[in-house]
Amino acid sequence: MAIRMIRLEGDPVLRQVAKPVSKITPQIQKLMDDMADTMYHAEGIGLAAPQVGILKRVIVVDIGEGLLGMVNPEVVLAEGEQTGPEGCLSIPGIQADVTRPSHVIVKGWNRDGEEIAVDAEGLLARCLLHEIDHLDGILFLDRVKEPDTIRRV
Ligand code: ZN
Repeated sequence: MAIRMIRLEGDPVLRQVAKPVSKITPQIQKLMDDMADTMYHAEGIGLAAPQVGILKRVIVVDIGEGLLGMVNPEVVLAEGEQTGPEGCLSIPGIQADVTRPSHVIVKGWNRDGEEIAVDAEGLLARCLLHEIDHLDGILFLDRVKEPDTIRRV
């Protein structure tokens, strides 16, 4: 396991669309392990592979309820609405309010290649959607409707 360098806003890799993973390999598992280490080291609650320069559809999240790693995550249901503060390890020191669905079901694979479906509300839903956005080259500031809420933290 290892800490990888987190790419910051302005790095073109953050604006590219990540490719699906065709098969779980030891390399993908190592990537997931390294991403978890990197997220915990940076005291974040989520990280997407493009943030460590890898254009593959892999995310890790932990909102304090345990590590959740997903490969090829796909939102199959999104409903409701929540508005709340968000930040990003690639945009350090900045927070802003973002409106997102409040309930999602996300399907994908776990670290062992098994199909999983995660039913998430509130912060976990927000976090999953934020990380999945990274896989499509979208940053949370793109989704800020009220620029007044952008603040330094
Ligand atoms: Zn982020």
